[in-house]
Order: sequence, then structure tokens, then C-alpha cells
Amino acid sequence: MQQHVIVIGGGVVGLTSAWWLAEAGYDVTLLERAPEVGSGASYGNGGQLSYRYVSPLADEGVPLKAIQWLFQENGPLRFKPEADLRQYRWLASFLAHCRADVNRRTTAKLLELGELSRQSMKALELAVPLEAFNWRDAGKLVVYRSRALFEKAAAKNGAGQVWSARDCAEREPALAAAEPLLAGGIYNAGEAVADCHAFCQALAAQLGRHPRFQGIVHGEARRLLNEGGRITGVETSTGVVRADAYVLAAGIQSRDLGDTAGIRLPLYPLKGYSLSAPIRQDDLAPEISVTDFERKVLYARIGDKLRVAAMVDMVGEDLSHDPKRVDSLTRQVRETMPRAADYSKLEVWAGLRPATPSSAPIIGATPYANLWLNVGHGPLGFTFACGTAALLAGAMQGKAPPFALDGLTLRT
Ligand SMILES: Cc1cc2nc3c(=O)[nH]c(=O)nc-3n(C[C@H](O)[C@H](O)[C@H](O)COP(=O)(O)OP(=O)(O)OC[C@H]3O[C@@H](n4cnc5c(N)ncnc54)[C@H](O)[C@@H]3O)c2cc1C
Repeated sequence: MQQHVIVIGGGVVGLTSAWWLAEAGYDVTLLERAPEVGSGASYGNGGQLSYRYVSPLADEGVPLKAIQWLFQENGPLRFKPEADLRQYRWLASFLAHCRADVNRRTTAKLLELGELSRQSMKALELAVPLEAFNWRDAGKLVVYRSRALFEKAAAKNGAGQVWSARDCAEREPALAAAEPLLAGGIYNAGEAVADCHAFCQALAAQLGRHPRFQGIVHGEARRLLNEGGRITGVETSTGVVRADAYVLAAGIQSRDLGDTAGIRLPLYPLKGYSLSAPIRQDDLAPEISVTDFERKVLYARIGDKLRVAAMVDMVGEDLSHDPKRVDSLTRQVRETMPRAADYSKLEVWAGLRPATPSSAPIIGATPYANLWLNVGHGPLGFTFACGTAALLAGAMQGKAPPFALDGLTLRT
């Protein structure tokens, strides 16, 4: 067994990887460039633990919809051409995935991963109590504005309950103002919401007490050193660190680090925004987590805050807050849920979803015998983190996976 492992990246994926590896008997060191764990994409995300609503972004009809979105002032998508071939390579591959049969296959795989992730988080609950990160069994309501889309979704619906616009407003009063604009919704019990950043903090604290955990090295990984088909160390801003094995789990930066060892990871940073606002006593904040399907806006109550997440901007690794995008989102939120929170105290955040063209993460082996991957969780990294960590630890121990991992591994 490769005894000592360095996990690169202290986001939700790196931390869960570190935990599952420590539990499997490895000595684990975490390498993180920021002073605090969970401060990348895992910081202000939508908080959805969306085990059944996994819908991959690439689907039949998406290219046409994307063109329409690009011309809408409040559209969920933005595209800025970059002088970086990786943007075009990713787009070409994304378009190739925009087929109904490919979407069906990926969805089936992500549902298996979702179920494993649900069970794996349940197992973790023994070490990290759910209250430590505001976990709530909120259920998920996807609302539709267009009747045609609602009817299509209702016809395809599996286990969810189909609600009229009236039902939506009655069962989730936060939607009362939006009722006249809605065609209906589909509700799924069993989906949860939680605070991803608080989860990272709580897991890091628990890791700190784990007998196999060797601690966090704070430094920026700059290059994977290799010789004879093995990784021999990681060159960091504070010197070279070495172990028997290495796990790359650095979110979108995994792409650059992979490049240093000749591993081309098909990742692109899909930028998104979130807004958080305090909920006052008389506010009508949603109890159920709500997804506004056409606008691609997620609403959730996380602790004493309303969290809204949205937007897919293809603008490279730019984390700045575009005032037009923020205004557009704020307007939509105020219109849909006017009394849900104190909007005069909005906190704005932007993050980069480390996305693959298929929306499926990449887990497991690489051409290097001692380098492993846990990357590419895209829009559902919080949801899938526990499941992919369990799969990674299993793969490193040579165990058979609980389901076939086709579509979830590196294609070489
Ligand atoms: C707006 C938005 C909303 C979202 N909503 C949801 C949601 O509702 N549900 C859900 O499941 N997912 C959601 N996601 C996706 C989820 O946030 C990500 O998939 C997940 O956080 C990715 O985790 P990660 O650990 O791979 O990356 P990160 O959280 O970015 O962690 C990577 C870590 O690696 C560190 N790092 C990077 N480079 C280096 C280096 N060279 N050396 C050392 N350390 C390094 C970084 O500092 C960081 O801490 C959302 C994302 C966004 C942007």
C-alpha cells in the first residue's frame, strides 16, 4: 500500500478525499495554498445536496437555447472569447456531449454517484454532526414558467410530485408573489441543503483529530515532479513536498497542475454567482429549496440566511463581480421572492465550477502509478464530494467499485 498520501487542494473534494483516505489507513497530508480551507468554489455555493436532480448541462437542444440565452439581458449564460485554446477545446467537447443518448447515459451514472454520495454523507455523520453545517432535509421544488416545459417535465417525471402553480404557492409561501408567473413545479422529497463552507471547516477540525492525519501544509503547488512514470514530489511556493502517492483535488487549478505533468484534464471554470441575505423574523424565506428552471436560479435557506445561486459565465478564471450580472440577478430575486430576506444587506460572491464537458467528475488513476485524481465536479461538487471520496479511496486500495465507473475516469 502507498502509505503516505499528499492531497492537493483543501476544498470540499480535497477534504473529503483526505478523510476517506485517513479512514482507509493512509497517512494523509493536505496541501492548500489559502490560509483557510473551503475558500475556493466550496465557499459560497448554492448549498444543494441534489442527489436525484443531477441533470448534466450538456443535452439535446442546449446549443440552440444557449444562443438564445446569450442575447437575453438577464440570461443565465455569458461567453467571452479567451486567447486560450482550452476554452475552445472544452466547448467543442461540450457540444459533442449535447445529445439525448449521451445525456441519458451520464444522468444514469450521476444518479448512481448521487445515491452513493447520500449514503457516504450519512456514514460521515458519525464524525461530523449535521448541525455543524446547517444540514436540512429541505426537499427540492423545481418550478417552471413555461407551460410547455412544465408539461414535458411532468411527463418525464419519475418519483417527484407534480404541483400546480397554486400548490407551489400554498406549500411554499415564499413563492406566493411568483404564482401568476408559474406554470407549476415538481417536488422531490429527500434532497437536502447545507452550508458547504461550514462543512469544510467542520471536516477539517475533525481531520485534525484523526490519528492518521499529518496536518495541512500551506503553500501553492506549482509543479508535479516526475521521473520514470511516477510522481516524485510537488514543487510548492515553500519548497518540495514528497509522499508515496498524490491526489490532485485542486478544483479548477487541477487543470494547470495536470499540465505540468503532461496530463490534459478536460476542465473549464464555469463562473457562477451567489447572493446571501439575512432572514429577519417576519420574512417569507423558502423552507423548501427552489430551482427556477428557465432562469437557472437556486434558492435555499441556509441557517439564518437566504442563499441564491445562479449564472454560468464562460469568462476564464475571472472572479471579479460584474455589476451588470449582480444587478440582473438581484432584480430577478426581488421579483420572484420579494419578502424572503433583507435585501439591503446582500453579500455577493463569485466562484468557479471546475466543470467537465459531460458534467461527470473524473476519479481515480492516471498514467502515473502514484498519481490519483478527484476533479471536475462542476455544478454539483458539494453533492458528490462524499461519494467521489469513497470511490477514490476504494480505487487506491484496489477494491472493486460499487458500480461501473465508465464515464467517471480519465480518458487517456
Ligand atoms: C455559484 C455556484 C453555485 C454552486 N452550487 C452548488 C450546489 O448548490 N450544490 C453543489 O453540490 N455544488 C454547487 N456548486 C459546485 C461546487 O461548489 C464545486 O463543485 C465544488 O466546490 C468544487 O470543490 P473542489 O474542492 O473541487 O474545488 P474548490 O472548492 O475550488 O477547492 C480547491 C482548493 O484547492 C486549492 N488550490 C488550488 N490550487 C492550488 C495549488 N496550486 N496549490 C495548493 N492549493 C490549491 C484552492 O485554494 C481551494 O481551496 C456551485 C458552484 C458555484 C460556483
